[in-house]
Amino acid sequence: MEQTTLILGAGVSGLAAARTLSDSNHPVVLIDKGRGVGGRAATRKLGDRSAPRGRWDHGAQFATFRSPALLSTLKRWGALDVLTPWHAGPDGLDRHISPEGFNAFAKALANGLEIHNSLRITSLTCAPDGWTVQAESGETFSATHIISTLPAPQLIDLLEASHFELPAIEALKQIHYHRNLTLMAKLDGPSGLQAPGCLRPESGILKLIVDNVHKGISEADTVTAQATPDFSLEWYDRDRATAASVLRAALQEIVESPITAVQIHGWKFAEAVRRHPEPFIELSTNFRAAGDGFMAGDEHVSPEQHARIESALLSGIAAASGILSA
Ligand SMILES: Cc1cc2nc3c(=O)[nH]c(=O)nc-3n(C[C@H](O)[C@H](O)[C@H](O)COP(=O)(O)OP(=O)(O)OC[C@H]3O[C@@H](n4cnc5c(N)ncnc54)[C@H](O)[C@@H]3O)c2cc1C
Repeated sequence: MEQTTLILGAGVSGLAAARTLSDSNHPVVLIDKGRGVGGRAATRKLGDRSAPRGRWDHGAQFATFRSPALLSTLKRWGALDVLTPWHAGPDGLDRHISPEGFNAFAKALANGLEIHNSLRITSLTCAPDGWTVQAESGETFSATHIISTLPAPQLIDLLEASHFELPAIEALKQIHYHRNLTLMAKLDGPSGLQAPGCLRPESGILKLIVDNVHKGISEADTVTAQATPDFSLEWYDRDRATAASVLRAALQEIVESPITAVQIHGWKFAEAVRRHPEPFIELSTNFRAAGDGFMAGDEHVSPEQHARIESALLSGIAAASGILSA
């Protein structure tokens, strides 16, 4: 039977895994429940077409790269063409953004791949010659190999719904994510934040405030404000409109111009803060789990250090390379 791979999740990790496989002409298909690609590499546009072009990155704000090998792979894939340096952080690394919003990076990775969007995978079955996944819509997909890049808790739910009792589930259960509530605010004028437009308050309920005009992704005065992990945990399941007004009041204390409108987005699995110490797990024969819950390319940091775009990319590449070398 021809070797084929199904990738669950078309975030940056799944996309990097797919590009690695397609580079070697290995047939690969991605499935994602979202309407587009990118997962947490997410950008929202201002709906008002009569106003200046407005954007918020409401997931990842930027990417940093330590691995020269990864940079040359991204260059070959054309994904570096959509990135530009924003500013250097305290670690000396350039923060790379996309002027079209960070989702453009995922779209560049997705170039040429077969992707099925708006399909939620609800169960998996194992057959003698491979795997079959079932989507909520009733559609099924079969392949010899599977790479899951779902956040670990969502993969555990899927395995349990499929009645799999794999020993490696215990390792997945150790992976832990912070929640995050992100406010997207439209302002009546400049925010007053100093260039480069990135503020990390030392106290209060906001952990990061980004001026998207300074960042270079928005012509309209928009600001993205991420709540602290404590606030996000406490408010995640409470009324979102109230959470938005509490965050809006905190942001208004910091920005100079009046806030005219807000939207809020909740990430149940925002940033992996306790990760598996290897780049991927072999859950079962020809079934691997990868994603930002795995440590890849950051051996010098502790498992508690937050996951990054770079580790998600490297984890996907490692899981796919494992299939090719086997
Ligand atoms: C608010 C926020 C800020 C961040 N800031 C930064 C930053 O500045 N820099 C940085 O490097 N990183 C940042 N991160 C982390 C970074 O976004 C992630 O590490 C990275 O995007 C993870 O990629 P991934 O492909 O592993 O997972 P994801 O992007 O989560 O991809 C998983 C995909 O699986 C899909 N999926 C889930 N369940 C199913 C199902 N049942 N069926 C089908 N599809 C399914 C989802 O739709 C999703 O697209 C931030 C994250 C958040 C949320």
